[in-house]
Amino acid sequence: MAGVDALYPGLRVPGLDRRDFDPDQWWRVATPLLGRDAGFRSEDIGRSVEGRPLRHLRWGTGKTRVLLWSQMHGDESTGTMALADLFAFLGQHPDHPVAARLRANTTLHVLPMLNPDGAARFQRRNAQGIDINRDARLLATPEARALKTLHDRVRPAYGFNLHDQDPGHRVGDSGRGTAIALLAPPADAANRVDAARARAIEVAATIRIALEPHIAGHIARWDETFNPRAFGDLTAQWGTSTVLIEAGGIEGDPQKQALRKLYFLGLLAALDGIAGGGHAGVAHALYRDLPENGDTWADLRIIGGTLAIPGQPPARADLLVNFREPLAWQGGSIRDIGDLADTPARRTIDASGLFIVPAPDTGAASDAPCRIAINAAACFHLARDPEGRDQVWTLRYDLDPARPVPDADR
Ligand SMILES: [Zn+2]
Repeated sequence: MAGVDALYPGLRVPGLDRRDFDPDQWWRVATPLLGRDAGFRSEDIGRSVEGRPLRHLRWGTGKTRVLLWSQMHGDESTGTMALADLFAFLGQHPDHPVAARLRANTTLHVLPMLNPDGAARFQRRNAQGIDINRDARLLATPEARALKTLHDRVRPAYGFNLHDQDPGHRVGDSGRGTAIALLAPPADAANRVDAARARAIEVAATIRIALEPHIAGHIARWDETFNPRAFGDLTAQWGTSTVLIEAGGIEGDPQKQALRKLYFLGLLAALDGIAGGGHAGVAHALYRDLPENGDTWADLRIIGGTLAIPGQPPARADLLVNFREPLAWQGGSIRDIGDLADTPARRTIDASGLFIVPAPDTGAASDAPCRIAINAAACFHLARDPEGRDQVWTLRYDLDPARPVPDADR
């Protein structure tokens, strides 16, 4: 994909700089890419619970049918961004050898942003509170029914189930964060490898080969336990060689823009492997040897400090803080308090010799201090005195990356 890598700056569709774009915004930037002159056909195949369109896009004239769907979890948008970039590539570089191969040998069927109501709120579940990826069996939601109906109509040879995962996941037992996790889901609890699954494994291995030069050591395999309610597992059971791609995180890439490019490159390598038959015979070990997703680390750990809560005796205590947007360090809340010397986190701050003092709650009418309690918003000072006058550092919900912190791990 070296040639495509060089083209990428021109393919990166503008207007998707933040990962919490809403559905209207995505269609506004994607629709101009999806003209008939670019080879696309578009049809509405249903509506979400709140009436947003579920749209099926078709491109290519080949006999191998490939179905791709993204963002069935509304806050997992990296695949949807990568699809926009894929559409730009297909439409704007029709004579590129990869595009020509794809057009001649595959027909792509794409259902972007399967959960637009969730995307509008940037939440996992649909407007009914149902997880669409646990609705493949019951088909209670209109979104799941639209995907199942499209799958039955297209009967794709290959399927791509495009997700994001918690950036806290480590690769195996290493301390390295998972940037991309791959799975060729099993079709049953026996975890057998039949011909269809073998092809999926080869496609997943093809993605690994494409991404290894960029993120060696940060690629993992998703848990292979069969889930009878999940779409990837059931599309595998329905005979489609299915690959799950999960975007985790890259430190310093808060809006997943670097990851978006890699997602696009991996997806394109997979599709090209299918179109040209290049995946056939790729060693299964390249997939099989990937370490599984390991532990999920907390985001931030404050170690060595002393809690100084007005009205309570001082206590030596470490804190764990998780963030609603972990890569952007935004929306912190306290997850644990106590001896956390053995609990790893993505980042550690050394508060030895300092007091942890509740900061005033800026959202409150009075100047009442924030609480230091499990699940409370993270809002405290590190100070040299227990009254919090001589402050060294403050965390108020969001960690300001520009502000120097007393890091223990640097
Ligand atoms: Zn997901």
